[in-house]
Amino acid sequence: MTSYKELGLVNTREMFKKAVAGGYAIPAFNFNTLEQMQAIVQAAVETKSPVIMQVSKGARNYANGTILRYMAQGAVEYAKELGCKNPQIVLHLDHGDSFELCKDCIDNGFSSVMFDGSALPYEENIRITKQVVEYAHAHDVTVEAELGVLAGVEDEVQAEKSHYTKPEEVIDFATRSGCDSLAISIGTSHGAYKFTPEQCTRDPKTGRLVPPPLAFDILHEIEKKLPGFPIVLHGSSSVPQEEVDTINAHGGKLPDAVDIPEASKSAVCKINIDSDSRLAMTAAIRKHFDEKPGDFDPRQYLKPARENMKKMYIHKIVEVLGSNNKL
Ligand SMILES: [Zn+2]
Repeated sequence: MTSYKELGLVNTREMFKKAVAGGYAIPAFNFNTLEQMQAIVQAAVETKSPVIMQVSKGARNYANGTILRYMAQGAVEYAKELGCKNPQIVLHLDHGDSFELCKDCIDNGFSSVMFDGSALPYEENIRITKQVVEYAHAHDVTVEAELGVLAGVEDEVQAEKSHYTKPEEVIDFATRSGCDSLAISIGTSHGAYKFTPEQCTRDPKTGRLVPPPLAFDILHEIEKKLPGFPIVLHGSSSVPQEEVDTINAHGGKLPDAVDIPEASKSAVCKINIDSDSRLAMTAAIRKHFDEKPGDFDPRQYLKPARENMKKMYIHKIVEVLGSNNKL
């Protein structure tokens, strides 16, 4: 058993309380490589932002749980080395699909876990979420739950259609499950292909696809029912067109990826960003190889990839979430 406290990590409790009170959101960046981790820490330190570093089940399988634990510890120590006296870093499990996985993460240094029972029947979702909450709280670990189904693909988690969260269920769900935060579905979607072209309209000027609007009325309804309760938005990458254009200009093939408006503000206190980091990394690598096809030292192309991700992380922190200068 390794407690996250030994690694210098924190849970989300205080972080979310401050974010809700201060009207900003904490960035939750997915990572599974060294370069992503470095870019996240550099961006958080330079902007003085708390940060959630999160891994999905698939990312944990890819990177290895033991290595990830030390990477998270390394992130804390690296932040200190960069001059941050009091780094506020969370290691979070994204979309845990069983009690056993959540427990294994808690036992191995995670300070926060998500149990995603959104595909389960309502009562079953409450039952397992509650089981995770009881184990997590005994170790001072915080728990994110999900109500309503997000469309799109995220590793093993896949849903054809999204089901919007029903505001009338949120009080009952949050009270009975005891979760610390709640991911809701208001029409955001996982991945770079967030919407099918049929769901979108086309901007006559640019020819770009414009996604259907997010259901902010549902969000406001939920905020009224659970004032101050931490709400989480998944699938909130904005899929920046310039990165998509760079990828396509250098031999890539991402047809009709849809740019979504950047959603934040309100009681939303955690925003998950994964695809944008993938796009930033891939765009920089493709561009590099197109311009310097003779390079073969990974440092030559991973350095610009890291720089490009860092630029994107800083943009999110400062321009979208407002979590800068909060340490
Ligand atoms: Zn998600």
